[in-house]
Amino acid sequence: MTRTASLAIARTVGRLSRRLGRGGGTSAPGKVLLKIRPGAIQELSARLPMGSLVVSATNGKTTTARLVASCLAVEGRRVLGNTAGANLLSGVATALLDGSARRPRPEVGLFEVDEFALPEVARRLRPRVLVLMNLFRDQLDRYGELEAIADAWAAVVAELPPDTILVLNADDPAVAELGAAAGRRATYFGIDDPTAALAELPHAADSIRCRNCAAPLAYDRVVLGHMGDWHCTACDRRRPVPDVRATRVRLEGTTGLRLEIATPDGPVSADIALPGMHNAYNATAAAAAAIALGIPRDHIGAGLAAADAAFGRAERVRIGDRDAVLLLAKNPAGANVTVQTVLLDPEPLHLLVALNDRTADGHDVSWIWDVDYEPLLPRLERLTVTGDRAYDMALRFVYAGLDRDRVTVLESPEAALDAAVGDLPEGRTLYVLPTYTAMLGLREILVRRGVAEAFWHDS
Ligand SMILES: [Zn+2]
Repeated sequence: MTRTASLAIARTVGRLSRRLGRGGGTSAPGKVLLKIRPGAIQELSARLPMGSLVVSATNGKTTTARLVASCLAVEGRRVLGNTAGANLLSGVATALLDGSARRPRPEVGLFEVDEFALPEVARRLRPRVLVLMNLFRDQLDRYGELEAIADAWAAVVAELPPDTILVLNADDPAVAELGAAAGRRATYFGIDDPTAALAELPHAADSIRCRNCAAPLAYDRVVLGHMGDWHCTACDRRRPVPDVRATRVRLEGTTGLRLEIATPDGPVSADIALPGMHNAYNATAAAAAAIALGIPRDHIGAGLAAADAAFGRAERVRIGDRDAVLLLAKNPAGANVTVQTVLLDPEPLHLLVALNDRTADGHDVSWIWDVDYEPLLPRLERLTVTGDRAYDMALRFVYAGLDRDRVTVLESPEAALDAAVGDLPEGRTLYVLPTYTAMLGLREILVRRGVAEAFWHDS
């Protein structure tokens, strides 16, 4: 079959599946395209004059891709990207298919890719820039061992063409090791602000053995999870000196942060409308990625400052006369980050936690016992829990010591949302901590009520 015919068939599938109401993030056209034309990803990506950038991580890839997209927008580039819900091979194929019909043609591909799908996507796409950010233990039953992903990523790095620019997180030992093990030049990024340090490793820290020699790692400074200034206690492996480093991170409550970044091209500073130390990592990664794409640093600062939250990731919505912030929390490391972010609000806290156990969330919810919810307790005025496993989550907080009178359990997400907003004093913010499918469900309610934008308009 000719390329034109293959593209036409796959596009028809796309139109049909949209008409059937499958909505945003559908990857059906890409699946069909790969069936009838297995080389489609190579062919279509070769037509992008600036090539492609791929971002992968356990946490933060959606936000980082969005930050890079914002820098490319300041630069006036036409960007082709996938949506968060379509980050497997078929989603990348669908995005390339959609882009091939656009006029004028897109100049650069920007793809966030699921950590397990990365090998297959990287092999076919041959990205110009590959950004690898972090490896945290994901939902326990979804992917199995962290080691398996690190091994698969090492194989990807070993196969990369020499002209691919590899951007690695210096602060994540397993990710930094990818460059050292391959003996390959990489651009490293990291956080170098001495005030950005935790007192000790959190419970969910899970990458604390050397990938080279299996000896324990030691930290001079822990910034977030298992990320920081690390060194091996037995061999010569240590945190590489970052080329792109956040020299100053000022967290500004739950609304944003100010970042000063030293780069080989000079300093970049930006006020970013995303809260928390994890977003300092996302923005520093985005700056390193933008430099790899050749974007000048004044455009990087402007791009980081102009970006808004990706859906469900520190997304702020107004419900009636109250504010709510959605903070996706889909695994122990991600949930610890949201806990730390919520604690930046000085007011007594109102939380809505939504726990589902569907395929995309992971069926095993025992990961909630690995999350450090305890620091919330002295500040928690009202907790509402909902979702398929609402009672498991309520039990987790009661076990942590929360007074039962402060917990409301409502299985219906809509009823829970209304109850939580109804209990919220004026001028306060409701923090919503959902798992992935719970976040999609809550957003559907918000979209229906006209207070959030629909999923597929967002990318
Ligand atoms: Zn070692």
